[in-house]
Amino acid sequence: VTDRSPIFSFAARSSASRVPAGFRPPPRRVVVTGGAGFVGSHLVDRLLEQGDSVIVVDNFFTGRKENVAHHLRNPRFELLRHDVVEPILLEVDRIYHLACPASPVHYKYNPIKTIKTNVMGTLNMLGLAKRIGARFLLTSTSEVYGDPLEHPQKETYWGHVNPIGVRSCYDEGKRTAETLTMDYHRGGGVAVRIARIFNTYGPRMCLDDGRVVSNFVAQALRRQPMTVYGDGKQTRSFQYVSDLVAGLMALMESDHIGPFNLGNPGEFTMLELAEVVKQTIDPMSTIEFKPNTADDPHMRKPDITKAKQLLGWEPKVSLKEGLPLMVTDFRQRILDE
Ligand code: NAD
Ligand code: UDP
Ligand code: UDP
Repeated sequence: VTDRSPIFSFAARSSASRVPAGFRPPPRRVVVTGGAGFVGSHLVDRLLEQGDSVIVVDNFFTGRKENVAHHLRNPRFELLRHDVVEPILLEVDRIYHLACPASPVHYKYNPIKTIKTNVMGTLNMLGLAKRIGARFLLTSTSEVYGDPLEHPQKETYWGHVNPIGVRSCYDEGKRTAETLTMDYHRGGGVAVRIARIFNTYGPRMCLDDGRVVSNFVAQALRRQPMTVYGDGKQTRSFQYVSDLVAGLMALMESDHIGPFNLGNPGEFTMLELAEVVKQTIDPMSTIEFKPNTADDPHMRKPDITKAKQLLGWEPKVSLKEGLPLMVTDFRQRILDE
């Protein structure tokens, strides 16, 4: 038996796989719905890097082909233009279900479509998971806690959500998506995972999606005033996208269903965030106050004890470290406009 024989190399691989330091999960066939979007495209990068085959399903409502264009020649990558509101037949091992607009400006643009995406889209992906025996992960949101009366928010908190407000298509849509996920698990035997994602930022966010980090960064780079809504004392906790992707992948391959909060517990007022953006981009940046939007949560900060204990996960990138990485990407895209 020489070094090049298949038997030898199989034996070498299987003994190597018993060594935890070099361990890599076996390659899998993975669907990422919403994979041409901000978070999805970063997840796709990591999955392909670890050897998986990836099918992106996206209707390009807020996603962009450019976000995954660097994979188009990879034989392990496929890009399908498809709306998850319609059924689809695929054969895969894992389904990361991200398809849904995430910024308030985008999800309020067509609220009926948003709730259809959350309810019918999630139902279809769960039906798919049930038929093929795939493991399903839902990207839910901290918005399921609404304008929270408990601070910081633990997964046990049931939330404080307006069912008839302008944000309800998203908040209540995601709450229903969580319900569907648990019902397919209990009733249909589907292996499921639920992540509740807190505000996340990084390269490839839409320049004008109206979210606070993308707004402030784009405004400071264009030498426009940063628009602070309300008194600017409301708080959010900002997570860098690579930390989120690590958390989603750890959750998918763990033995735990969740829900798990995935977020960075560092909490900032919008005025403090404006100050960090100013220090990072331009000390001459100014701010301008604007009226706040309806039903805006006053504060938000994840309690991540559960993810730390059960997934061994916690964020590594602080706002001061992560922001410059996003600024480099935004600066280039604003120059290209
Ligand atoms: P995004 O808007 O960049 O990505 C969403 C993707 O889904 C886009 O590519 C869009 O084209 C696609 N999509 C939307 N509706 C679809 C449909 N009906 N059929 C097929 N594709 C569709 O947003 P993101 O920030 O990358 O968010 C990804 C997921 O994470 C979303 O489910 C969102 O609710 C969740 N999440 C994100 C954050 C955050 O701060 N980024 C926070 C909480 C939850
Ligand atoms: N579905 C899908 N792909 C599949 C299997 C199911 O898109 O491979 C859709 C199906 O069209 C249905 C939904 O998922 O709208 C729920 O499917 P399920 O089998 O749970 O329910 P049923 O079809 O019995 O209503
Ligand atoms: N916000 C702001 N200026 C902006 C955009 C948003 O002050 O240009 C505020 C918004 O009112 C909210 C917070 O920033 O209190 C976070 O808003 P975002 O839309 O980013 O996410 P949300 O957590 O509300 O989904």
